[in-house]
Amino acid sequence: MRCPFCACDDSQVKDSRPTEDSTSIRRRRQCTSCGARFTTFERVQLREVTVVKSGDRREAFDRAKIEQSVALACRKRGVDQERIDQLISGIQRQVETAGEAEVASAKIGEMVMDGLKQIDSVAYIRFASVYRDFSEARDFEEFASTVQEAAKD
Ligand SMILES: [Zn+2]
Repeated sequence: MRCPFCACDDSQVKDSRPTEDSTSIRRRRQCTSCGARFTTFERVQLREVTVVKSGDRREAFDRAKIEQSVALACRKRGVDQERIDQLISGIQRQVETAGEAEVASAKIGEMVMDGLKQIDSVAYIRFASVYRDFSEARDFEEFASTVQEAAKD
């Protein structure tokens, strides 16, 4: 596994253990060149799925991309990492078991929003604001008030 800090191709596994829900193995690695430590995950991939984006662009389903955008939305919200991992694992499983070779990126976005709604309303609004690409502040305010209304129920 290539070191993300110095790009050396060799690293040693220092520790290896399953995550709490046992859907993945977390490995602590140390770069043999610069000594930096980093974490990798091993997960089951049931099948290859292609994501269809706007403008008909296609790319392979990439869990890391969802992780990045969710991490950004949850920044400084104190959301439990295990819950985030479970949300993303659930989405990945759904996508891979749906029996379709392709999935619309919009559909994945909706699944992430549905999940974040249950976890943290601020993270939900942040994700939705980026995802729906709000161009005007007014849209954002309208959306935020919708969320507040929903939270009262
Ligand atoms: Zn290194």
